[in-house]
Amino acid sequence: MTLPHPALSAADPELAALVGAEEQLQAETLRLIPSENYVSAAVLEASGTVLQNKYSEGYAGRRYYEGQQVIDQVERLAVARAKALFGVEHANVQPYSGSPANLAVYLAFAEPGDTVMGMALPMGGHLTHGWGVSATGKWFRGVQYGVRQDTGLIDFDEVRELALKERPKIIFCGGTALPRTIDFPAFAEIARECGAVLVADVAHIAGLIAGGAHPSPVPHADVISTTTHKTLRGPRGAMLMSREEHAKALDKAVFPGLQGGPHNQTTAAIAVALHEASQPSFRAYAQSVVANARALAEALLDRGFDLVSGGTDNHLILMDLTPKEVPGKVAAKALDRAGIVVNYNTVPYDPRKPFDPSGIRIGTPSLTSRGLGTEHMAAVADWIDRGVTAAGKEDEAALATIRSEVAELMSAHPAPGLAG
Ligand SMILES: *Cc1c(COP(=O)(O)O)cnc(C)c1O
Repeated sequence: MTLPHPALSAADPELAALVGAEEQLQAETLRLIPSENYVSAAVLEASGTVLQNKYSEGYAGRRYYEGQQVIDQVERLAVARAKALFGVEHANVQPYSGSPANLAVYLAFAEPGDTVMGMALPMGGHLTHGWGVSATGKWFRGVQYGVRQDTGLIDFDEVRELALKERPKIIFCGGTALPRTIDFPAFAEIARECGAVLVADVAHIAGLIAGGAHPSPVPHADVISTTTHKTLRGPRGAMLMSREEHAKALDKAVFPGLQGGPHNQTTAAIAVALHEASQPSFRAYAQSVVANARALAEALLDRGFDLVSGGTDNHLILMDLTPKEVPGKVAAKALDRAGIVVNYNTVPYDPRKPFDPSGIRIGTPSLTSRGLGTEHMAAVADWIDRGVTAAGKEDEAALATIRSEVAELMSAHPAPGLAG
């Protein structure tokens, strides 16, 4: 199943063939990477428009280039939709992606060398929350909290103690491998006690928040940072949101502090995605993402899998494969051969190395976009179970069997944007 790309095929058949191959891969496989999704055909179209051709440094009504009659309207529309959907006073839709959005937050609220606090990467945080190998950990003094080993949950007494001792300028909550609801009021109370700016990085769960399937960080967080391409199901991009009091600082940090011209074709596609996310059908989608993840977690627990924190509240499941005696990377690569796309991931207190960790991370945003429901989750768990077992035995025939079963179910559930 590939889409027609007549101009591309004529001008560059080599690249067109690669795009077609990727379309086929995305159509045939069961994509379980929790940060990925399928955008709609409308979002795809918007992101491939002539808005691409325009330079627009500055903000609507305050640009450094002429000819912004249309672009200003596009950006104003995206901003208005973001404000309405998330219930915020201010939105900046220009950050190129989640990492630059977070960098802009540092630029707005801290000086190099200042102390910042976030969740440690191996505990489920993000690189840009002050982790050592990131610019944010090199240029700022990152102090890091984690989860408790016995529960897999954040210990707020520990976070408070660390915050009051270290006095960070910025506290980040949110992360990349957190299967449980983020307690924004608890973080807000700690940030208030130590005088820090609280940033809710909701990159993974923005779509769940928009759809009412996860509590909102409004009004608890001072700044909300999010990507637009994960559960929110928009183009690759990001947004920063806040109350009016922080609007100027954030805007100045994004441009001219960090970036040049915004990617207007992306801004347009963000506007489309925000429109889609404001529809009743998206609320149903968000609820279904969570229901599917719960059902999948139950089915995996029934098969003896060890899930960090014992399950999930959101779209994401973090599995510790130690009891199965299969390393995460071996399992992830075998599942990929079986048509099931996951990523290997550290688990909290992982005794193994980050490039060869104990776990795999899975999620339900993509399969839910294809219309799979809770009734399909037993089959998904069964494939994962058989795939991990086959990985341990290097049983390629078993993986091939799974791959054909997966392809059959996927062909009955065409992906948005790929339906042709
Ligand atoms: C994905 C993610 C980011 C970074 O987004 P990119 O677009 O990959 O730069 C930042 N923070 C969190 C919590 C994320 O999950």
